[in-house]
Amino acid sequence: MKDTYRDKGLRKELVQLLEKKGISDHKVLAAMEKVARHLFFKDSVFHKVAYKDKAFPIGFGQTISQPYTVAYQTQLLEINKGDKVLEIGTGSGYQAAIINELGGRVYSIERQQGLFERTKKLLIDMGYSRIKLFFGDGFGGLPAFAPFDKIIITAAAPEIPKALKEQLKVGGLMVIPLGDGDFQRMLRLKKTSEDEFDTEEFERFSFVPMLKGKQYS
Ligand code: SAH
Repeated sequence: MKDTYRDKGLRKELVQLLEKKGISDHKVLAAMEKVARHLFFKDSVFHKVAYKDKAFPIGFGQTISQPYTVAYQTQLLEINKGDKVLEIGTGSGYQAAIINELGGRVYSIERQQGLFERTKKLLIDMGYSRIKLFFGDGFGGLPAFAPFDKIIITAAAPEIPKALKEQLKVGGLMVIPLGDGDFQRMLRLKKTSEDEFDTEEFERFSFVPMLKGKQYS
């Protein structure tokens, strides 16, 4: 798995673009500059587009999120070193790698079995053995590993899953694209007590849907 000077140069340009688009957290930008996004694509035919600010298909009807979206959600999460972070929707593993780079201890769930298996192997091959991957339905979270400092949902959620609210630490943050139409509103919830949340609203994005149940393939 090669990461050439050309790839590094393209990443630098991508990061400059993200900065222009309003991403201001320098730690997030540094992580985006470090992680080799082209290695998360299924086919090398996509290599030349890996550093464009676009989402792309990764097989199994799923996509790798747009870099701007990854940077945006990561910035909202305000990751501190050592934070226990739950991600719903592992997909390519790229978002998980970015959070890992920031020092987050990542637990990530994927409902699509084929994708889960492929990404698990990829992350091990890339040396990301610290990222813990689970095959399952993210609506239920991971009660055995709760509570989490941060929760990030990377698919369009039709509602805010109750189990995930419960599995967030008091003082913790959840970043969730909410809505089941073509576009979702990015929300950030802060858990202020066992049953109270402050909600902030941000930009609109377009995600693939968060679906119930596991899919075997
Ligand atoms: N974070 C990913 C983005 C993947 S797209 C990346 O960096 O590439 C969203 C992913 O969420 C898809 O892989 C989809 O299969 C998965 N997904 C959808 N509903 C889910 C659910 N209920 N539980 C877990 N994963 C889910």
